[in-house]
Amino acid sequence: MEKGLIGDGITEKDLFDSKLMGLLTPRPSEVIARFDRLYAESPEKATDFYYALSRASDYIRTYRVAKDLKWKSATEYGELDITVNLSKPEKDPKAIAAAGKAKAGGYPKCLLCREAEGYAGRLDYPGRANHRLIPMKLNGEDFCLQYSPYVYYNEHCIVLNSRHVPMKIDRAAFNKLLDFVDLFPHYFLGSNADLPIVGGSILSHDHFQGGHYDFAMAKAGIETELRFSGFEDVQAGIVKWPMSVIRLRAADKVRVAELAEKILKAWRAYSDPSVTVFAETDGEPHNTITPIARRRGADFEMDLVLRNNLTTEEYPLGLFHPHQELHHIKKENIGLIEVMGLAVLPARLKAELKELEEILVSGGDVSKSESCLKHAAWVEELKTRYTFTSENTESILRQEVGVVFMKVLEHAGVFKRDEAGHAAFLRFAESVE
Ligand SMILES: [Zn+2]
Repeated sequence: MEKGLIGDGITEKDLFDSKLMGLLTPRPSEVIARFDRLYAESPEKATDFYYALSRASDYIRTYRVAKDLKWKSATEYGELDITVNLSKPEKDPKAIAAAGKAKAGGYPKCLLCREAEGYAGRLDYPGRANHRLIPMKLNGEDFCLQYSPYVYYNEHCIVLNSRHVPMKIDRAAFNKLLDFVDLFPHYFLGSNADLPIVGGSILSHDHFQGGHYDFAMAKAGIETELRFSGFEDVQAGIVKWPMSVIRLRAADKVRVAELAEKILKAWRAYSDPSVTVFAETDGEPHNTITPIARRRGADFEMDLVLRNNLTTEEYPLGLFHPHQELHHIKKENIGLIEVMGLAVLPARLKAELKELEEILVSGGDVSKSESCLKHAAWVEELKTRYTFTSENTESILRQEVGVVFMKVLEHAGVFKRDEAGHAAFLRFAESVE
């Protein structure tokens, strides 16, 4: 800055230090050769090396990620992970939908394009001179492995299509997920759904997210066993989870993919007006699936989370989306990571929770605070159940944020966890023939 090479401001500083780190980072061919040598010893050794490199090169800005707030909240579905993300902006579901339809013009076309590797960056695109990718074949197509610079959980990785093609949930996607966990048995891999509202933030570039982490959903058991005729070799059941999940498990990954495809096709066309599930309205499709693949010993396991993005007059952001009364905590898309039980909450909550704590401890009035007014109804209800002191308030608020997140997931479930919802879920399962 003193020499006038860069201006002031975080973006210019980030571009410049990425350029410097890029000079120290080994060339792509060297990184790939070392990864392959280690992979021959064990897949875990290869990813350990690559993850360490991604942090050492400052592609993952560990010091920034360390500022995120993280805790666990106990619920009837297990311990949910809660994070308040301080390094990524909150996105508006409607802006995401618009971006998904936008025509790609620039270079690289998007943040997930492989052309980002080594790219100098510009004011509206992060510098990636220090970034390296690991190529691989999934379902016969070219894909690349990288880590997420935001690391929401341990070894949070992204597997991206080498071409800029849109997200699509189909048989090929199931094959890709299962091929990946075949190559890297210590990682899970999942995909966001391919429709706005219930999908992720980038629908325009085919990609998956995985990592070395056991989410609450992976730990949740089967509460109702299912049988699909012709698939007696595939164990199946409904998972005890706030969203609507069918779990498949078999030794043969092809059989898992075949049954997953059958369930997907049935779900795409499925309507049940008694529980407000409509496959389409005015020609616009609503049903899709968020799939997650993992290994269980030698077996392949796949969770199929049934999703529907219908909007109504009462719920303009989505009927199976957190309803308005929960927006004070979370109103963004419920994508893959949330589905699995990890809340990525907006940065504003850090200051708001701190302020709420001060107000509650001092006996102040929440409705007098502009930034905390949106939490007023929630706080009034909490006051009926707790006596707040300077010792307990922070932990109560954190636990109760977890309970709100649990409700967020329940709202996103298409078959509700009551008698009518369970019966409707079983009717759908029976319709898969
Ligand atoms: Zn792209």
